[in-house]
Formats: sequence, structure tokens, C-alpha cells
Amino acid sequence: MERTLVLLKPDSVQRRLVGRILARLEDKGFSIIAMKMMRVSRELARRHYAEHVAKDWYPELEAFVTGAPLVAAIVEGPQAIRVVREMVGATNGLNAAPGSIRGDFSSSRQMNLVHASDGPAAAHREIGTFFQTDEIHSYEATIRPWLRAPTED
Ligand code: ADP
Ligand code: MG
Repeated sequence: MERTLVLLKPDSVQRRLVGRILARLEDKGFSIIAMKMMRVSRELARRHYAEHVAKDWYPELEAFVTGAPLVAAIVEGPQAIRVVREMVGATNGLNAAPGSIRGDFSSSRQMNLVHASDGPAAAHREIGTFFQTDEIHSYEATIRPWLRAPTED
């Protein structure tokens, strides 16, 4: 089981795509174990996107993610980090494969609707950036026996 941080960025909220994007993740079998709507501060944006702060396009990205509310969630399931990244698709919506979230809904490099952690270290760090321990609700998914065979971990 893995956990990954998913952000439904402000364009998802404004375009009323939150339910449809979350439905794709739920349909796949993933569990949402934490979720909140929030307005990201400049400080939080800089912490989350630390690897991009020095880039010339960072100010635009910061204005975008802090400019309106977003929805943050923790998604849990087998190989969740890789699988959710693949469901999200390539960064630029114009390059993202049809069938991926960005490929189906985005035509932008910046307004690409969703953030998903890109590896185990990032997932651990980003979950800690957005959620307190008591905001995370792990539970036994009763549908589990119908998602994977008992011999699969
Ligand atoms: P990803 O979200 O696919 O991991 P990156 O880590 O490369 O993509 O970039 C983080 C976010 O910054 C992207 O999701 C996108 O919203 C934004 N972004 C990426 N490249 C650019 C760019 N050249 N100009 C403006 N915004 C960008
Ligand atoms: Mg990235």
C-alpha cells in the first residue's frame, strides 16, 4: 500500500472538475484517506514547489496555485504513487495521452488541473506539508476483496 498527495489545483475547482477527477481515482479502486479545500499561501506554495522556485516561470505558477482555492487529498492504494502519476499524465495537457486526466481535460502547460507526487520521497514530504497526522483517516476498505485477489499483497 502506498499513499500519494493529490492536489486538485484551482483550475479543477473553477472548472467544476473536482468530482469527475476524484471519481476516476475512486473508480480505479483507490481510497481517499484525507481531503480538504484550502487557499494555499505563498509560503506553502514555495515549500511544495521548492524544486521550481528558482525557475523563471515560478512566479506565474505561484500566482496560479495561490490565486483561488484548491482541494488537497491523500490517495491510498497499491502502487498509488506511480499509478496516479500515470493516470494524471504528462505535464503539458497538449502532450498528455488521451485517457489521462490532463490528456482528456487540459490544454495547458500550467493549468494542468492536478498535482500528484512523483516518487516515495516526494509523497512523504508533500503529505507532511499539507496534512497533520490527525487529518489522515486510514480505514479498511470493505470492497478490498473485490479489487485484488487474496494472493496479491
Ligand atoms: P508535474 O506537475 O507534471 O510534476 P513539474 O514538476 O515539471 O510538472 O511542474 C510543476 C507544475 O508547474 C506543473 O504541474 C505546472 O502546473 C507548472 N509548470 C510546469 N512547467 C511550466 C512552465 N514552463 N510554465 C509555467 N508553469 C509550468
Ligand atoms: Mg513535478
